[in-house]
Amino acid sequence: MRIDVLGVAFDNVTMDEAVDRALELLEQDGPHLVATPNPEIVQRAAKDPEYARVLAGADLVVPDGVGVIHAAKILGTPLKERVPGIDLAARLIAHAAGTGRRLFLLGAAPGVAEQAAVNLRAAYPGLVVCGTHDGYFQEDGPVADAIRAAGADIVFVCLGFPKQEKWIAAHGGETGARLLIGLGGALDVFSGKVERAPERFQKLGLEWLYRLVKEPSRIGRMAKLPLFLLSAAGARIRRR
Ligand code: UDP
Repeated sequence: MRIDVLGVAFDNVTMDEAVDRALELLEQDGPHLVATPNPEIVQRAAKDPEYARVLAGADLVVPDGVGVIHAAKILGTPLKERVPGIDLAARLIAHAAGTGRRLFLLGAAPGVAEQAAVNLRAAYPGLVVCGTHDGYFQEDGPVADAIRAAGADIVFVCLGFPKQEKWIAAHGGETGARLLIGLGGALDVFSGKVERAPERFQKLGLEWLYRLVKEPSRIGRMAKLPLFLLSAAGARIRRR
């Protein structure tokens, strides 16, 4: 069952259920799009009908940010739990390492995906990272061809939103991959370029606060979060 949060329909799944769904998709011919929207993505989709259509057509849509969980609760239609894209990615990597599924890393600044591949291969023995490409390319065709030539099953597409989901919708089929997942800044984290919040912040739902302290320039982006919760409250009141 999907639950609408201000125009984006989320799969109401736990992390374990999300992993199971992703693995089912991996068993079928692709392309399958997995999206991990946070409040910023929901807000963008409200203003960008093409983006909203792409997200509606995704095969799995999981709530990445704690803000989405709060909004769903305010709307009176709670979601089971937060499913951070980066944690879902880690679970898929572990599966790939155990089964020989081939992973391609697409996105971020030049060199970052390569470093992420080095770190992931070391952390997950047996993992096949079959290729990498940075996220600052001009032509889409050669990138899709490179993914196809690498024989990728899973692609982490880390181009930032809305580009990554739109790219998957437009070019996923050309890649021959089965599962393509939009993961924002995940390669920056896997490469060690950006540090993830300590677990105690994650558990408290305060990862955003940690990130803000580390990268104060994100204040403009984050200031939109209260507005997001306010629009959820507004939508709830109007529905009464
Ligand atoms: N990025 C990219 N190509 C672009 C624009 C952005 O590869 O044309 C990358 C950028 O380098 C970063 C990621 O996309 O690694 C977006 O990271 P951000 O932390 O902003 O994403 P979020 O997780 O907040 O959506």
